[in-house]
Amino acid sequence: MELIDGKKVAQKLREELKEKVKLLESKPSLAVIRVGDDAASEIYVKLKRKMCEELDITFTEYHLDKSIEQTDLIDLIEKLNDDESVNGILLQSPIPYHLNIIEAFERIAPEKDVDGFNPINVGRLAQSQECFAACTPVGIMKLLEEYNIDITGKNCVVIGRSNIVGRPMAQLLLNANGTITVCHSKTKNLAEITKTADILVVAIGNPKFITADMVKEGAVVIDVGINRLTDTKKLIGDVDFENVKEKCSYITPVPGGVGPMTIITLMGNVIKAYENQHK
Ligand code: NAD
Repeated sequence: MELIDGKKVAQKLREELKEKVKLLESKPSLAVIRVGDDAASEIYVKLKRKMCEELDITFTEYHLDKSIEQTDLIDLIEKLNDDESVNGILLQSPIPYHLNIIEAFERIAPEKDVDGFNPINVGRLAQSQECFAACTPVGIMKLLEEYNIDITGKNCVVIGRSNIVGRPMAQLLLNANGTITVCHSKTKNLAEITKTADILVVAIGNPKFITADMVKEGAVVIDVGINRLTDTKKLIGDVDFENVKEKCSYITPVPGGVGPMTIITLMGNVIKAYENQHK
């Protein structure tokens, strides 16, 4: 079994992106919109700020009060769409329930949609066209590439069908010529399906849900899950790592696998947006 070291790959990409930014005529810039006081969002946005600072990308946070109206949110998005000094726009989810996040994503200009949630980008992904796609699955594709894991003709099973991970993951694997099965909470005989996977991507949010008996000998196992244990506060994945690792050819640990790839992929997307806008 070989460990897929996302931390190491992300560090390498970070150095490459740093050099890339130095060669640009001006600094790329990312605008992040955060609404309300979700504690996890505050941490995620801080991490994004820190990474931008490290890469010399201009970072601006717009922190809106939880009581804002949908029109206030849309007005800000439109303002950022029109601002030529802004290359990438990210709306941090979740946002308060009275707001319509789908409409908000629709209003972010596709060329600035560095998170890949605008339906134009989702549609382009579905047609295997050049686009921005969700950062976590794109980061996973980079990990597979880095470890020379071929996808063509492989049975790929994705567990989870969220817009952030499962769906774009399935699409990216399909675009890379994999044979795809998507499983979710209504799937019957899940273990029978997971046992067919050459590449198994798990994005559920349920600690140690995937056990060794659900995994084929020699499979590549990608664990997207991040679960914090209430007693020890330890982070663990959706895969029973200790037992599954004995059976597979490659596996991502939690933490240090998929997680570090998400932010670095976002940074890559901001630079890509800058370059596209300066062509
Ligand atoms: P979500 O809650 O939006 O989706 C979970 C999916 O799992 C759903 O599609 C659901 O149908 C499926 N599911 C639930 N129970 C199931 C079961 N018993 N059998 C089969 N399928 C089942 O979650 P999400 O946003 O896709 O995130 C999933 C996990 O990945 C979470 O732990 C989250 O924290 C983590 N995550 C990690 C990163 C990262 O950067 N590493 C990024 C995003 C999400």
